[in-house]
Amino acid sequence: MTAPTVNLTDHVIDGQRRQGTGERIDVSNPATGEVIASIPAGTAEDVDDAVRAARKAFATWSHVPVTERAAVVQRIAEGIMARRDEIAATISAEMGSPLSFATAVQASLPAATSAGVAALAESFPWTEEIGNSLIVREPVGVVGAITPWNYPLHQIVAKVAPALLAGNTVVLKPSEVAPLSAGILAEIVEQAGLPAGAFNIVHGTGEVVGEAISRHPDIDMVSFTGSTAAGKKVSIGAADSVKRVALELGGKSACVVLPDADFAMAAKLGLGNGWINGGQTCTAWTRMLVPADKQDEIVELLRAAAAKYTVGDPTEASTRIGPMSSTAQQEKVNGYLELGVTEGATVAFGGADTQLPSGGAYVAPTIFADVTTEMRIAQEEIFGPVLSVMPYTDLDDAAEIANATVYGLAGGVFAADTESGVEFAKRMRTGQVDVNGGSFNPVAPFGGYGQSGNGRELGRFGLEEFCEVKSIQR
Ligand code: NAD
Repeated sequence: MTAPTVNLTDHVIDGQRRQGTGERIDVSNPATGEVIASIPAGTAEDVDDAVRAARKAFATWSHVPVTERAAVVQRIAEGIMARRDEIAATISAEMGSPLSFATAVQASLPAATSAGVAALAESFPWTEEIGNSLIVREPVGVVGAITPWNYPLHQIVAKVAPALLAGNTVVLKPSEVAPLSAGILAEIVEQAGLPAGAFNIVHGTGEVVGEAISRHPDIDMVSFTGSTAAGKKVSIGAADSVKRVALELGGKSACVVLPDADFAMAAKLGLGNGWINGGQTCTAWTRMLVPADKQDEIVELLRAAAAKYTVGDPTEASTRIGPMSSTAQQEKVNGYLELGVTEGATVAFGGADTQLPSGGAYVAPTIFADVTTEMRIAQEEIFGPVLSVMPYTDLDDAAEIANATVYGLAGGVFAADTESGVEFAKRMRTGQVDVNGGSFNPVAPFGGYGQSGNGRELGRFGLEEFCEVKSIQR
């Protein structure tokens, strides 16, 4: 991979690159431990400058006709696609996604998302009539965006594209773990014709830059994706200025295998979803609920499916699970592998003693069986390739277990027929459910119930989040 050039790591404020004067934060390749770049540890003053620039740009960008804004967002999609391989290599190097997955998903999905948002411009109800009222959808203003490392560019674009289309301007704080693709996006955005100041990046930690964004009195909305713990702090910080807060948080999603389901399909697709991106996916089905009398049969199928997952160097084509994004994440996952045993779950595959490639932040993909609701491995987001198989007695019990966490982001149902699968999906208190492997829809609303968040991203619903609604009576 070509090493990222230094200006990809600078702050971007009012169209200018700024290296920052203080401390820097190293960015490491989790497959090798090598430091591949460093970003400036931004300050509250950097956020102030970026907000000033965004506020100034808002005065003009919000009045650019929506067709022109859509054209810019479409050009961003094209720009991402044109640099897809570079983006994929950068993301793979900074957070460990296998290169094949980084190309197909990490780099390609943001292009599709951006193009999808641009296409919404025509059909979106920017104005509508209700009785004697003219309803007008207007931009919220300056949007603060705070994003995580697991799908670093996708999470950014899911906010930036609709925010810009609606006429907002943006101050972004990317994850300090995986910040490099944001720098590439800044170049793409400029080349797409966005005016200076409409998209700004302030790098740094959550505690300093994230907090400053959440609390800033001149930021009108904060759109946050990350852990539930940090999301709560963002809400608290934002409360004083009563800014709009959209939270996309963690999950502990359940895949429910109904007694009449095709078990082989459920095992293959269920495990695939649970372990996607090394399990570092907010929507991952990390719990599989199975009929108690079929647990052994299903675990056998899961073991066979799991044996096909090669752990290793993310640049190798055969690798399906790379290193965890960082050694901190590796330690966290390993802690849960030990905890599961202590809590009395059965290690059905993998486990802490598994032989692993050396040198990187690798963990053992693991399946626990006999997991019960009160266990922490059934309640807490592990964010690694760890599946908890949970037996249930009947469908009421399955629904109760599925809903027995503080989260509610995603889920799956496997059933003999789609209709009964959909009926069961309606019993799940969660934002997205895929029946019999129904595929991801990039324009369907995406977001959580409970402590998985309070926002909806993607498609029309995602665009609505970035709009204020005004009623004009005549
Ligand atoms: P994280 O919460 O540690 O960090 C996310 C972002 O928030 C980073 O940019 C971080 O610097 C910043 N941050 C941290 N503390 C902050 C604070 N006090 N104030 C403001 N900002 C702060 O999460 P992570 O480890 O980067 O990402 C993994 C988490 O993200 C998981 O919990 C995962 O489920 C969640 N996630 C959710 C979705 C979704 O759409 N619901 C998508 C992807 C990831």
